[in-house]
Amino acid sequence: AQIAVCAYITLVANYTMERDLRRAYLFSLRDRLRHAQADAASRRDALTGLANRHHLEEELRKLWAMPEGDISPVSVVLVDIDHFKHLNDRYGHGAGDLCLKRVAAILTAELRGAGDHAIRYGGEEFLLLLPRMEMVNAMRIAERIRRAIEKAAIPNEGSGLRGIVTASFGVASTAVTELTAADLIAAADCALYAAKRKGRNQVWPPLATAGDATAFVTSISD
Ligand code: GH3
Ligand code: MG
Ligand code: MG
Repeated sequence: AQIAVCAYITLVANYTMERDLRRAYLFSLRDRLRHAQADAASRRDALTGLANRHHLEEELRKLWAMPEGDISPVSVVLVDIDHFKHLNDRYGHGAGDLCLKRVAAILTAELRGAGDHAIRYGGEEFLLLLPRMEMVNAMRIAERIRRAIEKAAIPNEGSGLRGIVTASFGVASTAVTELTAADLIAAADCALYAAKRKGRNQVWPPLATAGDATAFVTSISD
């Protein structure tokens, strides 16, 4: 009888212990999952689903820590929607949000490289981070995206000649040994400012200045 009692106690103890272990394991699993979710959320912009600035900082740190030959050059494209305030005022904030989502989807669809990133950089401003990409190719991608946004023909009556949403683009490129990440983004911002000043709905610098004769012919015949 004593043996039976002992066995019984051992069994119960075993069972309780196992149950506690199982619970502890499940709790730790749940914690890890929550952490992973929070981590992913902190890198994503809730409205567009694009990566956010936090994520950008991490990517930049990684790129600038790499041996130069692996990534050089790095190109950055800053994209800013033209007359977005007008769209918000005319159609409402909900329409503004929808426009941001559509532009974000176009950016995602147009980026094909494995290391390419589209980031929501500010309210109606996006940043494309393009490692291992020559400036002229980044300019071509920007031009392709500019046309895709035009083609989407999102209404923005009274904002410009054609009454649709357009965007301006500033492109800059560097070897990681030449400029800091902050300087590279500042250069793209300068270019973006020039695109705005020159009349919006364009990529700056324009492909013609990169010695691309075909692009120049296309752009003047457009
Ligand atoms: P420009 O052509 O010079 O770029 O003019 P703009 O009107 O696009 O630029 P401005 O910086 O004057 O206006 C940006 C507007 O974007 C102002 C702000 O209310 C709006 N905005 C910022 N974030 C959001 C958002 O998440 N949703 C919506 N709907 N609007 C936003
Ligand atoms: Mg802006
Ligand atoms: Mg704008």
